[in-house]
Amino acid sequence: MDWKEEFRRGDDRPAAIGIMGGTFDPIHYGHLVTAENARHFFSLSRVIFVPAYRPPHKKQRRISPPEHRLEMVRLAIASNPHFTVSDMEISRRGPSYTIDTVLAMQQAYPAARLFFITGADAVLEILSWHRVTELLQNCTFIAATRPGYQLGQLRHNLSALPEVLLRRILTMEVPALAISSTDIRQRVREGRPVKYLLPEAVEDYIYRQALYQGD
Ligand code: NAP
Repeated sequence: MDWKEEFRRGDDRPAAIGIMGGTFDPIHYGHLVTAENARHFFSLSRVIFVPAYRPPHKKQRRISPPEHRLEMVRLAIASNPHFTVSDMEISRRGPSYTIDTVLAMQQAYPAARLFFITGADAVLEILSWHRVTELLQNCTFIAATRPGYQLGQLRHNLSALPEVLLRRILTMEVPALAISSTDIRQRVREGRPVKYLLPEAVEDYIYRQALYQGD
């Protein structure tokens, strides 16, 4: 039985909820398509976007203030009744450990099966994440990949995981993830267009707040 079949049969809990984790600096159509595809494929009753306050592995780049990132998510998801946003990680402050978020969501939705959706490049480092075994025991990961993404490195990095935990990490290719936040920031900085890469309301917000002008 392949994992899709197993997934469909394997759980009789009534609801499945997606937790969409990321920095969202800024949110763009790639993220929105990822969340919507995951919702459809895994029959998620809702997807909760959770902007990270401080992603634990973040490199040197200065990230935009959390209020801006949260507001851009709010604007971007406004038209989708299945999407909501939580400021849980932002209110918690400190490093945004996914295990803390998953355990809090479990308390809030005790009957639901939880899926954590994020980019495959973030999942590459999952073995070094805080309390990774407990994390994988409590949610299933959906690692979204960009077109042409080579799974070799991910497989290699995950090979130390026992089979039972490995099965909790699924991958999903999302063509729209050719769009990236890094590229959008660079385009804004260089005065190139970002139209059609992200919702208009988010684009307006970026220019109104003069984000990404000088990083
Ligand atoms: P990142 O390094 O900013 O992103 C890695 C890659 O994944 C980028 O290509 C990014 O594209 C893409 N990506 C990020 N979020 C995505 C999403 N929701 N859907 C589709 N693609 C996505 O990753 P990060 O924001 O630092 O971390 C991602 C999540 O993992 C966050 O929720 C973070 O808190 C969590 N995390 C937890 C731990 C821990 O618990 N110890 C450690 C590291 C990360 P874009 O730049 O275009 O978004």
